[in-house]
Amino acid sequence: MKIWIPSLLLLAALALPAEDAATQTVQAVDAALAAVSGPAAYEYCKVLAGEAYAGRHTGTPEYEAAARWAAAKFASWGLSAPSGGFLQPFPAPHAVVDSSEMTLTIAGKERKLVAGKDFLPILFSAAGRVSGGAVFAGWGISAPELGYDDYAGVDVRGKFVVCFRGVPDPADKRFQRHDEHRVRMQAARARGALGLIYIYPEVQANPNGDLLEKFFPAEISEAVADELFAPRGIKAAELKKDLQAYRVPITFALDARIDLAVEARHFPGAVGYNIVGYLAGSDPKLARECIVLGAHFDGCGRHLGILFPGADDNASGSAVVMEVARAFAVSGLRPGRTLAFVLFGGEEMGLLGSSHFAANVPAPLHKIRAMFNFDMEGEGDRSFATFSPEPAALRQAIAAADSRVGILAGTREIKEVGVRSSDFAPFFLRGIPCAAFYSNGPHLAYHQAGDSIFRINPDILGAISRLALLSAWLLDAGPSPAVD
Ligand SMILES: [Zn+2]
Repeated sequence: MKIWIPSLLLLAALALPAEDAATQTVQAVDAALAAVSGPAAYEYCKVLAGEAYAGRHTGTPEYEAAARWAAAKFASWGLSAPSGGFLQPFPAPHAVVDSSEMTLTIAGKERKLVAGKDFLPILFSAAGRVSGGAVFAGWGISAPELGYDDYAGVDVRGKFVVCFRGVPDPADKRFQRHDEHRVRMQAARARGALGLIYIYPEVQANPNGDLLEKFFPAEISEAVADELFAPRGIKAAELKKDLQAYRVPITFALDARIDLAVEARHFPGAVGYNIVGYLAGSDPKLARECIVLGAHFDGCGRHLGILFPGADDNASGSAVVMEVARAFAVSGLRPGRTLAFVLFGGEEMGLLGSSHFAANVPAPLHKIRAMFNFDMEGEGDRSFATFSPEPAALRQAIAAADSRVGILAGTREIKEVGVRSSDFAPFFLRGIPCAAFYSNGPHLAYHQAGDSIFRINPDILGAISRLALLSAWLLDAGPSPAVD
């Protein structure tokens, strides 16, 4: 068992020579840690992942109902609301796919696919019915400026583009932009394709993108792709390995016809919400700065009659932020700086809520001193932490916190953000020190119907909540002067 020695950091920072005051502070920290409850966090996670909130697809009535539930929790614990209230609105255009059918005709033989298993429309697909041939086009990337073009010399007009998700050279960051769903979809549509079909090992819900008129994006499983490639005697996994190894475009026409029908409703004027509550700092000078503890609240929703509960991704992170808020609130422990607890919407649609918040920090919240992000905290029994290299106090605070909590399985510096980054990205890009936490998984049901409460471990929710509480406290108490 590890013995926690908080006194050095705390006493230096608080500059309180009186032993009594220091003892009181340590007792208050202990009380706050003791107030953290894994089972309580599990209950929030269970409610959020339940039928009633329909997978929390940002912009839906069910999302709004969930947001109001969380805001009511914040209020009941005594958190303050920003001047605009607990809910911060932002535009959230989205779609709900009601049903879909896909039939492949391979070498003259028809095969009707099973929605949700063999294929899935991307969750901003246009509605309608289309048929056409198909062309395999590597990564679906057109980057002539980088000397790479999967579309060079092929005609995809009136056909489906079939491709993998990824880039020819992951080490070359200039390809990152081309790995955004929106950029890839535009590339296919600009060439007259009917749609773009990703090959994923297993299909998964994906609402990240924009409705493009008469354009039909979808996914098929690797097993279905194997059927498509069978006339050529190719396996999808081998094809992907070749693309990764040779880093040159591999493109060929498929002897197949694809019939796709999608029934979907689009809501271009919908509104999503971040849920924002705060506990004012105890130091009049430092309180104008805040430490943000954030997690995305949204999931992928309910489509084709399939609920995507998003328990691990990310009712779990939301539950951690809520439980840390409750523990600080009920224990009375107050750092010098203000603590802002933010549940972001629209992460799954491309960091909509966190981007909006970072660009429009609601008053009286002001200077953000640091941002802690929690995304996928519910599966497994250990946690990883990643953090900005500067200031060193951030890394030190997390390490000191873990010397007491003892759950970190690994740490890593955040060197940059990319298209797969979570809600810390908009903060990181503004030069704000960030830390991101995630449990060790295995996260097997990512964006699938199986991401349910049954995969969640209450103990890891509790442990990560304690690590978060103590890290935030120690970062605030650390020897870092106020910044402007
Ligand atoms: Zn997530």
